Amino acid sequence: MNPAPVPPRAVFLDRDGTIIEDRHYLADPAGVALLPGAGEALGRLCAAGCGLFVVTNQSGIGRGYFREEDFLACQNRLEELLRPFGAAIAAVRHCPHEPSAGCACRKPGTGMWESLRAAHGLNPAECVMAGDKTEDLLFGLNAGFAASCLVLTGKGESRARELGWVLPEGRDAAECRLPERLPGMTAPGPERTRLFLLRNLDALVRLLTGGAECDASRGCSPSSPR
Ligand SMILES: [Mg+2]
Repeated sequence: MNPAPVPPRAVFLDRDGTIIEDRHYLADPAGVALLPGAGEALGRLCAAGCGLFVVTNQSGIGRGYFREEDFLACQNRLEELLRPFGAAIAAVRHCPHEPSAGCACRKPGTGMWESLRAAHGLNPAECVMAGDKTEDLLFGLNAGFAASCLVLTGKGESRARELGWVLPEGRDAAECRLPERLPGMTAPGPERTRLFLLRNLDALVRLLTGGAECDASRGCSPSSPR
């Protein structure tokens, strides 16, 4: 089950709980730790020709918990940890604002997408998003990407439960539908964007490079309300 005939040109990734361990308001580069298999997965996406873009909400900056330079130090450490796997981040965007700021860049808003689209000449139909929160899923949907994926690492288990999404027995990937219109959803509907529940980034690689065992007919269903 490949959402595109070829691996997408760009894969957008949340950071905390998706690539690295979610250490609430991470400010110390010594605390950056790759999730198991994340380095290998991103290396394989790079080898398949995908550009990797990190989009991350960092409200700890706006709240005064840490500084821009702390965020950048953590980003440098992340890129250092990814290098041995042959994984390089093409670009990163972060939203430094508090949720109450009403900015356009905080996911599920699409400000970070618009910035990267302009800078890299990206077409949303050639992009895929993966993250561990509903905001990440809606970011890819609002941007009109080919696919948007919720991973079960980080906060993903609890978010999947809220959506009523469950992986079928023995599967690492399943195509899903939203139970209803969700707060923060600005796209008219999910017509353009296929939604997937994935066990982890390794399952994303298999989904995007054609090796995924994903059966849409046995996909998870939007059975329970949020
Ligand atoms: Mg996250």
